[in-house]
Amino acid sequence: MIRTRYAPSPTGFMHIGNLRTALFEYLIAKKGRGVFVLRIEDTDSERFVEGATDAIFETMELTGLKFDEGPGIGGDYGPYVQSERKADYLPHAKNLVSSGKAYYCFCDKERLDGLADERGLKKYDRFCQQLSADEIEKRLASGAPYVIRQLIPDGKTTFHDEVFGDITIDNREMEDQILIKSDGMPTYNFANVIDDHAMKISHVVRGSEYLTSTPKYKLLYEALGWDVPVFVHLPLLQNAAGQKISKRNGDASIPQLLEEGFLPQAIVNYAALLGWSPPDNREIFTLAELESIFEPKNISKSPSAFDVNKLRWVNGEQIKTLPPEVFYEMALPYLKQSVKKAGADYAVLAKITQSRVTVVKDCAELVDFIDELPDYDIELYTHKKMKTNPEIAAQALKLVIAEFAGLADWNHDALFATVTKIAEANELKNGQVLWPIRTALSGKPTTPCGATEICELLGKDETLKRLEIGLAKVS
Ligand code: GLU
Repeated sequence: MIRTRYAPSPTGFMHIGNLRTALFEYLIAKKGRGVFVLRIEDTDSERFVEGATDAIFETMELTGLKFDEGPGIGGDYGPYVQSERKADYLPHAKNLVSSGKAYYCFCDKERLDGLADERGLKKYDRFCQQLSADEIEKRLASGAPYVIRQLIPDGKTTFHDEVFGDITIDNREMEDQILIKSDGMPTYNFANVIDDHAMKISHVVRGSEYLTSTPKYKLLYEALGWDVPVFVHLPLLQNAAGQKISKRNGDASIPQLLEEGFLPQAIVNYAALLGWSPPDNREIFTLAELESIFEPKNISKSPSAFDVNKLRWVNGEQIKTLPPEVFYEMALPYLKQSVKKAGADYAVLAKITQSRVTVVKDCAELVDFIDELPDYDIELYTHKKMKTNPEIAAQALKLVIAEFAGLADWNHDALFATVTKIAEANELKNGQVLWPIRTALSGKPTTPCGATEICELLGKDETLKRLEIGLAKVS
């Protein structure tokens, strides 16, 4: 049975790297018809951030990463909040002490600091491992503060990682790490092993920064007589400055990205591409599609970098796939801010902007010329490809005004037929007539729809008024 877990610490809001970890855990579980667990690792009270746990729940919900077991849902192996599991850790540590795989350490901070400073030792010197059983008993009975340390055996440790392969490390490089702190609480390094075993986690997925700690975890599983889970370490994720993505480096959190207008499904889609290569060149997926095509063997070792422009592109592609009525609802507040004129057809405005925005709110500036013609330079009438310039524009606009003024049917087909007629009769190309119209009506180099569609949007009076203004400019 495949069981994965996402184990965030509520020390800040989730960023794209955290979301990627959660997503890959989710996908590995779904792929194997397994169970996806959420575990809140809240034992570091000093770094606890108010509201962060709720934000994690919200982000999971919004992105569709539904967990099968976790806080608020339950399951057979809970509680799933570490602070509620406090009592579970010490007995395991004491068992390790009894079997000689761990020991009590009474060294105070001063001694430990001295160790590192004077003798240049970074590692604990095992002073307390030499204490006699009587001495230990005496100190414990006197209530002396203690920690419990893992006794790293001699030799080498090899573990297998699904992404990074076999990794061997000389045990001399490892310190006798603390398992239980002097306040009786477990360190993260101990708690993750106890919890992953207690929750029957089969695949442990996490960032590659944990690769160096994994030999210690493997030794702990072995010392406790437990099966070692499958390890899947995800490649390093860097920000634009080349640093590791982290809350501490000020990288955008998921709530911030949502605030900036990125859609949850785009963020998920983008996160999937960070260190995982889809089987073909396709890059746009729904979560359901990812569930069926995701293969952990396609996770790469090489670091990947968060690229906001790529995210924008993915967002734009995801917007294109939205049902028009959904985009309309999202775009409406922005369109209303931008176009206030009576009778504006917001459904049409939504339709013409949907495929042209990378974030929904950008639809506003695409249509802002409708209410008010911006001031523009007559050089805008010059377009090499269309073979037009202010002089040709003057000729075209004059003809267009004359013909349009008499038009009874004010719709795109009639308008376009008129433009074609004018072009043919005057040995002009369609573009040499359409470009000047578009420029005169919008004052912008790019518009979300063509010249005759803009005529329809503006209505006859406003169109003729703007064409006259344009003509006056180029005459
Ligand atoms: N609580 C750890 C973190 O947020 C989890 C690491 C792990 O997945 O074991 O980094």
